[in-house]
Formats: sequence, C-alpha cells, structure tokens
Amino acid sequence: METAPRPTYRGRIAPSPTGLLHLGHVRTFSIAAQRAAEQGGTLILRNEDLDPQRCRPDFTRAMLEDLRWLGFRWSEGPDCGGPYAPYSQSERRGFYVLAWRKLRDAGFIYPCTCSRKDLAQVATAPNDADDEPVYPGRCRSRTDAAQFDEPAGVNWRFRVPDGEKVYFTDLHFGQQCFVAGRDLGDFVVWRRDDVPAYQLAVVVDDAEMRITEVVRGADLLKSTARQILLLRALGEETPKYFHCDLVRDQNGQRLAKRHDSLSIRHLRESGASSGDVLKAAESGLPTGTASHPQLLDIKDK
Ligand SMILES: [Zn+2]
Repeated sequence: METAPRPTYRGRIAPSPTGLLHLGHVRTFSIAAQRAAEQGGTLILRNEDLDPQRCRPDFTRAMLEDLRWLGFRWSEGPDCGGPYAPYSQSERRGFYVLAWRKLRDAGFIYPCTCSRKDLAQVATAPNDADDEPVYPGRCRSRTDAAQFDEPAGVNWRFRVPDGEKVYFTDLHFGQQCFVAGRDLGDFVVWRRDDVPAYQLAVVVDDAEMRITEVVRGADLLKSTARQILLLRALGEETPKYFHCDLVRDQNGQRLAKRHDSLSIRHLRESGASSGDVLKAAESGLPTGTASHPQLLDIKDK
C-alpha cells in the first residue's frame, strides 16, 4: 500500500525588532529549534518588521547578533536568503496586498471607519488583558468593499462566522475550541495607516514559506483560531501548532520588552554565558546564577 510522502518539516522563528530579545523569546525559539532538529527539518528565520512606527534597524541587528551568540542557526533568513525570500516582512507587501484583494473579492472582509472612541463606548471588557474586545459589528453590513482599489485609509475587518466553533489540537496544550463572535470578534487584517495587521501577514507568510509547524508563545492561542479562519478563507492549508508556556517574572507578569534587565543583551554584557541564558530560558532554574542575580528572578509559570 502506498502512503503519501510526509511533508518535510519546516519551522520558523519569527522575532519582531521592536526591542531587545529577552528570555521569553529564547525559550520559544529554543523549542522551535529543537523540534526542527529532532525531525530533521528546516528552520527559517523571519524578521517580523512590519510596523514602521515600532520596528528599528538597530533592533534587527541586535536580534540577529543575540541569536547567533546563543548558538541558533537557521538555513533560510534575511541574512542568508533562501527559496522563499524575502524573509523580512517589510519587503513582502506585494504578498499581503494579493491576499487582501482575494479576501475583498470573496466578501470576507469589509471596510471599518469606527474610531477608537466609537469602539471604546460600546466595547465590553475583554476576558483577559492580552486580548482585544469583540468588535460590536457597526460596519459589518457595509457593501462598499469593491469600491476600494487599495486597502489604505480604513481599517479592514474579517467577518467571523458567528457562533461557529473553531477547533484545533495544540501539540502542547491539547484540544482547543474558540467560538467565533463570542471569544473573538471581527478582527483587523489591514490597518488604516496602511500597515497589514499581524494576523494577515503571519498567515500569508506561513503559507508562502510552506511552514508545517508553528511554535510560538501561549499568548497567541486565541489568535490561532483567527488565523485558522483566515487560512480557510484564503484556501490555504493549516500548519500544526505548538504553543509554549510563557516565562514570567518574580511578580507573575509575563516578560515583555520593558524587562530590560532580562534582555539577552544585558545578561550577556553582565557576564552570563550563552549556556546560562539558555538554561534560564528553558528551565527557569538556572545554574550558576550567583554571579547573575537577575537570572534568579525568573520564575516558571
Ligand atoms: Zn466600524
């Protein structure tokens, strides 16, 4: 009996140069690199420098240096090229515009001109601090999408199928289910300042780059449901997902770029070895922390 050939594993690490990398990123990237290595797969580095207001070239340089110093190696990326180049999102606008057009033509998205103030007045508080409130649907019935030749000037929202349950199996957290219209509302795929939204760019890039497994932080579990809806609308296959536990600080806050003392750059400059940093990221209980007291502050979730 013939069996279809297994698609070759393709994973990615996808940092955003809006600040210095910290231990939380390192944990996720370590797991991504390990999973790719275990399966004899390819690891891709994608530079998620989509937002010109927040991303800076000096952070991109620091990010690449820090990753190399930690021992990460990738076979496709912005620094080394590859068959699916370019690997920096700022150079991939053409792909995102094509997807926007496809979604517009098929009626999946609509222009939204609600102001922040409009939304704040009707919004119910989101269930968790990391998430956006469910969009109340004010512009949902608009029928003027076809009048836009370019996405700029309005927000574009994806119309979620109300009441539908979006299921997926996470390879770490197990079975997941989010209800469209309740857990997640109509989300933005293109911003009025003419920047494609994270959700759209990630889905387009993962599909274009033939990613077979997405490894990222648990803060994106709900976004995975959004992305599955987008992939389906675009007629693309869904990759596998592995969401990682988040690293938290001594107060239980998840690490953010404001935790400068836990940036890789800072730890490195204060004398930590790459081994110390990797251990701290992986276990939360690093060895050799006596000389680097900031590593002692890491507490696992
Ligand atoms: Zn609106």
